[in-house]
Amino acid sequence: MDISVLSLDKKTAVITGSSGGIGEAISRAFHSAGANVCMCGRNTAAMQRISESMGNERCYIHLLDVKNRDQIRKAVDEIEDKIGGIDILINNAGITQDQMCVRMKDEEWDEVIETNLSASFFLSRSAIKKMMKRRRGAIVNVSSVVAFCGNSWQSNYVASKAGLIGLTRALASEYARYGIRVNAIAPGYIETAMTGTLNDSAKERFLSAIPLERAGSPDDIASGALFLASDRSSFITGHTLHINGGMYMG
Ligand code: NDP
Repeated sequence: MDISVLSLDKKTAVITGSSGGIGEAISRAFHSAGANVCMCGRNTAAMQRISESMGNERCYIHLLDVKNRDQIRKAVDEIEDKIGGIDILINNAGITQDQMCVRMKDEEWDEVIETNLSASFFLSRSAIKKMMKRRRGAIVNVSSVVAFCGNSWQSNYVASKAGLIGLTRALASEYARYGIRVNAIAPGYIETAMTGTLNDSAKERFLSAIPLERAGSPDDIASGALFLASDRSSFITGHTLHINGGMYMG
């Protein structure tokens, strides 16, 4: 193995939520590392823009609403028919719908759990069936620091992200013998559209809790995803990589 670079040469990677800040950064990093990149999401225009900026080479777009179980069920077969075997799956699509527990509507709970947790299970299940036959694969689930430290007004989001950590460990243990590794990343405060809606005092509160004294960038998360997806992490499974500037040292 060439240990001088993190290469994904000749690998095919599927990334959900590619139209968002972190998903775009992961797509770009994987593309630069030589992967065929399949960007999954609902926002075709955004994904086309990203694909064009990468020269429309080794880039594919798959329309996918991760809340739509029918689409999820067909996605892996359709992608493999079009591009070939999936080596890497990044479950990154995610939403927040913040509310106090006592005021949270059923739909706010369901939508967040479906998008952030259930979709990752269903996509992983389909991908693993294929990966098992090839006896190789890497899955990375994008969780959150709040899965570890909790957060007010986010019982749905925190539960979904903590669920992802459990899912990661369970799948890692179940499929290690098939050469499939499953890991998680727990980002801290990262500047994207998701955190762009926070008011100034909330941003200030987050920043003051970060020992490295800055917000994270989507590229900070992409670097971690690249490592966990590459053969450089071939003895790591069931792990959660904390990327948070020191705000939580679990
Ligand atoms: P963005 O809001 O920028 O991106 C979220 C992505 O998820 C978008 O591409 C969005 O697509 C996609 N998505 C949401 N719902 C669906 C759906 N039903 N079907 C398909 N795609 C969907 O946020 P980030 O890039 O910051 O978030 C990426 C991940 O990182 C999320 O899981 C988030 O929870 C996690 N995270 C982020 C942190 C941060 O500080 N930013 C901190 C910790 C974790 P569309 O454009 O179609 O809505």
